[in-house]
Formats: sequence, C-alpha cells, structure tokens
Amino acid sequence: MIEREYGKIVNLTSMAYKGNIGQVNYVSAKAGVVGLTHALGLELARYGINVNCVAPGLIDTPKAKTLDDKTRDRLVKITPMRKMERSWTSPMPFCSWYPMNQSTSPVRRSTSAGAWKVFKEGNLPDSAKATPSTKTGSEVPVQSGLFNYPLTDGETPALKGNRCTQCGKSFFPKRAICPECFVSGQMEEIELERQGVVYASTVVRVSSPTGIKAPYAYGYVDLLANQLRVFALFTGADPGSFVPGKKVEVVLEPIGKDAEGKTVIGYKFRPVSG
Ligand SMILES: [Zn+2]
Repeated sequence: MIEREYGKIVNLTSMAYKGNIGQVNYVSAKAGVVGLTHALGLELARYGINVNCVAPGLIDTPKAKTLDDKTRDRLVKITPMRKMERSWTSPMPFCSWYPMNQSTSPVRRSTSAGAWKVFKEGNLPDSAKATPSTKTGSEVPVQSGLFNYPLTDGETPALKGNRCTQCGKSFFPKRAICPECFVSGQMEEIELERQGVVYASTVVRVSSPTGIKAPYAYGYVDLLANQLRVFALFTGADPGSFVPGKKVEVVLEPIGKDAEGKTVIGYKFRPVSG
C-alpha cells in the first residue's frame, strides 16, 4: 500500500470499546483497536492510505438471544440505531485482512456467491470429507457451470467463465450481461487458464462456525491470460506458503456433503507441482 500510495484499511471493533461491566479484557481489546486505528490513520495518511474501524452495535446472533430482556433493552438503548442488527452472513468477521485497492491494477477482482459458498463450506474437517468417488450421481458440483464437471478421462480441471465479445472482458463466474457494455447476447463461454499466480492471501487462525478448520488460507489468484482475479481457498501446502507471486493451479476437491448425503465438489488452488 505504501509503495502504491493508495489503500483502505478497515478494522473491526465493537461498541463495547466504550465500556461494559464485567468485560475488562474484552473492552480493553476493543478500545485497543480504536487506538490502533487512530494512530495508524495519522501514520499512513501521508501515503494516501485511509484507516477506519467498524464498531457494530448489538447483533442478532444466537448469543444475543441468551441475554435477558433487561440487558438487551439496555444495550439497544445505547445503540444509535435503537435496534439489533441482523446477523452477518458474510465471512467478513473472520477476515484479518481484506484487499480493497483495485484502482491501479489492470486485473479485475471477481467474487461470487459461489465462491463465498465454497469459502464457507470448504476445508471441512477430514472426518467430514468423503473420498472422491468416480461414480456419477454420488457427487455434485457446488454450483453448476463454475468448472468443467464431471471430468472425462485425462481431462484437467478448469474454471469456466465468459467473455464479452464486444469489449473482450472476461468474467468469473459468468455474467448474463457485460456490466461495461450492457448489451445482451454478446457473452461467450470460455474455459479459464488452469494456472495462476497468488495476488494476495491471508491465513485465518480461527475455525469458522461452518466447519472450516483453522489454520487455512484463502485469497486472490490472478489468471494473467484472462486478465482476471478470482477468489479462492488454497490447499495442498502450509497455509502460510501462499505468498504473492506463487504459482498455483486449480484443483477440484470434496468440500462437504449436501442434504441428500452427496459429496459436494468445489474448486481450490494448490501449488504447481515440480
Ligand atoms: Zn463488454
């Protein structure tokens, strides 16, 4: 960020930084994040980097439901919005780091419901993983059309995107209409290049409620030929080893079970062997 003289940092704290009885440790930590944000903001302003923090009020989570009415009413009263926010469904709370700067990069970022789903359901504990089966019918892709599936003999996995024939831009996952040209009927399906380089990654050291076992890594992979940046989980090596510039290739792996007990197959990136 300093090199590029541009960046946005968003820290997560809590309204608890103002103080709560019986929460000296928690309040100290949250107030620490506020101080860190102030100090870093002053420190990095000269490089064009903004530092902010989000202090959510009371969130409607299972834990909040265990509060007695009096306590809940008191907390709602000191929340500026005067209501409980609904629970967060994005994986943001687990992120220790989140890339936002796209303005100077020729590669566009691509996230999707499918990728988030993979993120949330991926890296299940070994006990929950099924051995990949070659029988069709016992396996299902996490989302149809995301990658070539099922694989035929000797075929290597590849992500499937599409390209606008008008402006040439590629997308993953596929878009019904090009967001640049807004002309329908111009999108053609393409197979994305199988190998890419890590743009950025982060190691998450807290297991997620959806069963992703810590530590695990995820981040962005640049597919240079397609001028595309895709969001993905990493696999097959030490989570800390997916440093920027590392060569990786797409791989299909079981990531869980669906309601019918079928093995759900998703995509991840692993180091290029050899
Ligand atoms: Zn276009």
